[in-house]
Amino acid sequence: MQPSRRRRICPRRVAALASVTALTVAVPTSATTAHLTAGSATAGPFPLTRSSAVRSCLIHGRSGVQMPEGVPTSSAYARSTGTVHALNLMIDFSDAPGQGSALDRLADFFPQTEKWFATSSYGRLDYRPEAPIGHWLRMPKPFKQYGVDRGAPFDPGYRDLVQDIVAAADPEVDFERYDMLNVLVTPNAGPSALDTVLSVTFAGNRDAPVADGLPIANASFIFSRQDDGSGSYAQTGYRVLPHENGHVFGLPDLYTQEGGSAVGHWDIMSEDWGADNDLLGWHKWKLGWLDDSQVGCATKPGATEYALTTLGRAGGRKLVFVPISSKAGYALELRTREGNDSAVCRPGILIYRVDSDVDTGNGPITVYDSQRNSGGCTRSPNVQAELSDAPFAPGETFKDAKTGIEISVVGTDPSGAYRVRVTRRP
Ligand SMILES: [Zn+2]
Repeated sequence: MQPSRRRRICPRRVAALASVTALTVAVPTSATTAHLTAGSATAGPFPLTRSSAVRSCLIHGRSGVQMPEGVPTSSAYARSTGTVHALNLMIDFSDAPGQGSALDRLADFFPQTEKWFATSSYGRLDYRPEAPIGHWLRMPKPFKQYGVDRGAPFDPGYRDLVQDIVAAADPEVDFERYDMLNVLVTPNAGPSALDTVLSVTFAGNRDAPVADGLPIANASFIFSRQDDGSGSYAQTGYRVLPHENGHVFGLPDLYTQEGGSAVGHWDIMSEDWGADNDLLGWHKWKLGWLDDSQVGCATKPGATEYALTTLGRAGGRKLVFVPISSKAGYALELRTREGNDSAVCRPGILIYRVDSDVDTGNGPITVYDSQRNSGGCTRSPNVQAELSDAPFAPGETFKDAKTGIEISVVGTDPSGAYRVRVTRRP
């Protein structure tokens, strides 16, 4: 229940801008308090039967981790495959009246968000945003009185706010129809996102208030997202929502106290500002967007070669995982400027460590930089520059002296696939 804080991920402007903090709070739950919808309690994001070929790659951390990177994801989170109905409620307050129409606020996020999910999931997540109430839903108390800041799940300000939202919407909304809730708060409520990011998600929360007999267990609250002056707001301002919804599906924050320096711009759970980017292959597997047959589990001693196709397009092998314990391992994938990856400036094999024992916001994933201290290759604003050239090119090798694991990029195929060789000590 520790709030994980974030720093603004804009290194070039960080001196000029106050730091931005956001919070993700998730409560580990039993699988019985699963979804916002009834009847979907058995539909976790994962197939129940796993291929035995990947068994050694189903890493799992200790049970105290709030939002673990392990596979499979707890079924307490919202389903991340198939048709998912997202309820959107636009709310305002007497001391922060909605400016413009509530449907304009909805249009800040849609259709971009459902397109982003369709591309990233290769069509496996059919995200249906619905807004049965087309006007601002006025809360009974002024914004200030809720005392919304950073805090424990739904408590105390959020609990009151959620109860008031449910009471205001209930006559017009059948909550049972939905898998998740997006509360799109009028952007003039609370501080500017350039000062403090209030946007937050409560995921898998068994202490959630109840609507139509069901706990509001998976809810994202989106506050202001002020234009940062980079000129990209209209194209990229929506990206806070797929980030927050990522938590609803069970993904942890990858930024740390130090900002985006652990994963850079390689996953929307690390940086949701700036140019569009995709999720890591590990997250796509975790969400059920990759089949087990698209994942190579590198356990054999000696050298094994794999061909990887770009993560930005459907089909083919996308991920190789090299387990180093029952809790951690190395992942490799091919990243190119395709699909949601619009800012890739050095295509190649991205190599990163996944540690299921490390919690959200503490660095559960670390990307290895093939060009350390280079300053990176990107010129995009709001993109962590140093790791932008992290992928390994043909001829380059990653070595871990401790485990004896070596990962070499052998070459490319005429189809664009990259060949990698994983060597493990006998
Ligand atoms: Zn987050």
